[in-house]
Amino acid sequence: MDCDLLCEDIGRRQKSLNVLLDVFSETGLSGHITWFANENDFQLTKNHQAFLQEILRRGDNLGIHDHFESFKGVYKREAIRKFCHRSKEAMERWLEENGYSVKFWLHRNGCLVQQPEVYAALKDLGYTGVSEIWPGKQGVDRDGHPAFDNRSVPIGIMPYRHNEMNFSAWSSKEGHFVQIPIMQMFLKDLNYSSMERWIQTFEERSVDPGILVWVFHPYEILDRSRQRISSEAVGILKSHIERCRSEYEVEFTNVKEALSEIGC
Ligand SMILES: [Zn+2]
Repeated sequence: MDCDLLCEDIGRRQKSLNVLLDVFSETGLSGHITWFANENDFQLTKNHQAFLQEILRRGDNLGIHDHFESFKGVYKREAIRKFCHRSKEAMERWLEENGYSVKFWLHRNGCLVQQPEVYAALKDLGYTGVSEIWPGKQGVDRDGHPAFDNRSVPIGIMPYRHNEMNFSAWSSKEGHFVQIPIMQMFLKDLNYSSMERWIQTFEERSVDPGILVWVFHPYEILDRSRQRISSEAVGILKSHIERCRSEYEVEFTNVKEALSEIGC
């Protein structure tokens, strides 16, 4: 889960998180979800403490998600480090105060920004797991600054290791980071034909188990006006989970579980 809570009302945000927690517990996914919390923008450690307590109780993974729109497309290691230090420090302080010992190693850049200076800053902060590469796609940040271009990266690739410069070298086996490539962004339009192509590529390369990363956001279960929970979206989420299992024999895991499956 890319934990952007794009909604002004804190109560409504909390509702969207609660509904997701209910869906995940009903479908047996508790403990198998990865949450990338956007602390700098939404202050989960202040506004959504019960939610944090609950995901930690379940054994879900907790990482951090930082959005860089304030840098207007100009990325400098020092400045990014300072910015990302804020979210990490706030989260670590909260965890410590609440008696948890969680080491932050997982990070996702907002809008999948991929930049050497950003990766260098994340390395300085001790992050080792990242998840931005989206094979075949390119994109911009929310203000239209170029964020990434992965059109030359093939689908069906597995997590790989890299350093700050060679983040798209998907056949790399060494490096500070483990990159966990994304198969699908967004909830409703989960693309089954794309998923089939990923699975087929795994089969052709005798990759077993193959890892399919599906990312979406809590705000995607709100209706278009973001005033209330969309029961339609919740139904679609449940049906995707069911179909992934029944038709594609998907086993849902958090990032840590998935990486340990493949010894990464
Ligand atoms: Zn985001």
